Amino acid sequence: MVKYVIIGCSAGAVGAVEAIRELDPVGDIAVISEEPIPAYSRPMIGKYLSGEVNLENMIFPSKNFWEKQKVQLFLGKKAVKLDLTRKEIELEDAEKIGFDKLLIATGSKPIIPNIEGVTKKGVYTFTRIADAEHIRETVYAIKAQKAVVVGVGLIGITVTEALAKLGLKVTLIGRRDRVLNQVLDQKAAGILEEAMRKEGVCIVKGRTVQRILGRKDNDDMVGGVLLDDGSAIECDLVVFAVGVVPRTELVINTELKINNGVLTDRFTRTNIPDVYACGDVAETYDFVVGKQRVLALWPLARISGRVAGYNMAGLKLEYPGVASMTALNHFGVPIISVGLTTQSGDSEGYETLVFHDQKRRIYRKIMLKSGKIMGMTLVGDVERAGVIFHLMKNKVNVEDFKHKLIADNFSLASLPETLRKQLIWEVCNEFHYSPK
Ligand SMILES: Cc1cc2nc3c(=O)[nH]c(=O)nc-3n(C[C@H](O)[C@H](O)[C@H](O)COP(=O)(O)OP(=O)(O)OC[C@H]3O[C@@H](n4cnc5c(N)ncnc54)[C@H](O)[C@@H]3O)c2cc1C
Repeated sequence: MVKYVIIGCSAGAVGAVEAIRELDPVGDIAVISEEPIPAYSRPMIGKYLSGEVNLENMIFPSKNFWEKQKVQLFLGKKAVKLDLTRKEIELEDAEKIGFDKLLIATGSKPIIPNIEGVTKKGVYTFTRIADAEHIRETVYAIKAQKAVVVGVGLIGITVTEALAKLGLKVTLIGRRDRVLNQVLDQKAAGILEEAMRKEGVCIVKGRTVQRILGRKDNDDMVGGVLLDDGSAIECDLVVFAVGVVPRTELVINTELKINNGVLTDRFTRTNIPDVYACGDVAETYDFVVGKQRVLALWPLARISGRVAGYNMAGLKLEYPGVASMTALNHFGVPIISVGLTTQSGDSEGYETLVFHDQKRRIYRKIMLKSGKIMGMTLVGDVERAGVIFHLMKNKVNVEDFKHKLIADNFSLASLPETLRKQLIWEVCNEFHYSPK
């Protein structure tokens, strides 16, 4: 009987367990996580902080999933050593777990800037449910009224919205010239920024935090931040959301090859036999840019986990490749962004099609190269995203009908008939793939 071990219990692990069990109903599966609870929807921790959902609503994929899949869970246990020769993992409490097939699904960890005052009480990061709990406790304990969030990416926007919903006056600080700068251009970001300001958020752009200041009556506690232009902003707590990096500390002194993340091939295999990696910790194939890279996104972690699971259980399944994709709805603004979205129109032969209706807060942008879709940004009205994604993934030449893709009256009927039929057929069939 094969013994499968997965380190990390989140999106990647869920995908892997689902796939392993499709092929191997009897093998031993052990999942190790330093967090005390099994997988939960990490993107929802903002809603957990604001009190809109409880833990029960966040458990992923379901409460009895692990039991049903006959998985032995090691929760609240950190893996501290990996012996690839003996095929053994050592946990913090010195317990050792052997494996035949290992999946590294340790995700990512937040970057904490090394600045003065960062160890004061009231400084947080925001990637785990425990972070949301600690922030909420602090907000209530000290009756916090003002917060500073540093970082204008996905996590920064998420925690800003949650704190604003808790009634705090939030100042969002970023060194970039716009929010979500990695996925939105100036106009698209402008729509979100306007909605954020309407909810009372103050956005400070092009600045960095140089120092965390203490309170006048207690220097150990956060009282404000000092910016690089010398100005100070008063606050009761600070949340750093300045990015995440793959959690490679467990593998760093092993024979496993690491670039930015753990290096894997198109079958999610690492350079060591029987050892696989998936999700935020690994570099995966991006079909838009045509190379391996780290894409820290939930659906991609689950897909790469599934591919890893199939391969661990003996089916040679190639990773189809993914694209950077973001789907959000913060401050009442739905946004979907896929692939290349921020390159300027005339660089390297890209063509940009744009529709912008400021009044209705609708923005659509499609980036093309040689008639093929390389990226899309939809803000305010995201319904056509699925169709455009299919055209993009299948590398369809859209030259003849490209302008219809951004028009207000777009529908499936806007596509040529043969393409429309092919697309409907694909959408109907792709969710019925079975490896058996
Ligand atoms: C606030 C927030 C909002 C987000 N919003 C979105 C969104 O809107 N859309 C989107 O696509 N993505 C979003 N993401 C990103 C998404 O959550 C991640 O891409 C996804 O969770 C990655 O899954 P994973 O399985 O690779 O690892 P993770 O979810 O990072 O889980 C890894 C697990 O492994 C554990 N672990 C690590 N090392 C060890 C060890 N040595 N021993 C034991 N356990 C260990 C960790 O504690 C953790 O529980 C968001 C993330 C955050 C934090």
